[in-house]
Amino acid sequence: MATYEYRCPRDGAFDVTLPIGTAAARVLCVVCGDEAVRIFSAPLLARTPRPLAAAIERAAGSADTPEVVSEIPARPRARRSPANPTHARLPRP
Ligand SMILES: [Zn+2]
Repeated sequence: MATYEYRCPRDGAFDVTLPIGTAAARVLCVVCGDEAVRIFSAPLLARTPRPLAAAIERAAGSADTPEVVSEIPARPRARRSPANPTHARLPRP
């Protein structure tokens, strides 16, 4: 069995599972029953989320041309309240 992709002009793309080699160029839409045409797309390719791709790109770029800073980066601010409220009751050093 193989999964084939079709597109209805009204309802969009949908998948149909058929034996290999038996996919027709057109099938009836599973929603409205109108004619849907077969489309071809890249199968099961994972797409990297844009923020992750930017981070990977930046890390790779910094290997060759590291970013130059003009001052020491500020320290991250300390948390005012602990994540667990019971930690506030612990004895202080
Ligand atoms: Zn349809």
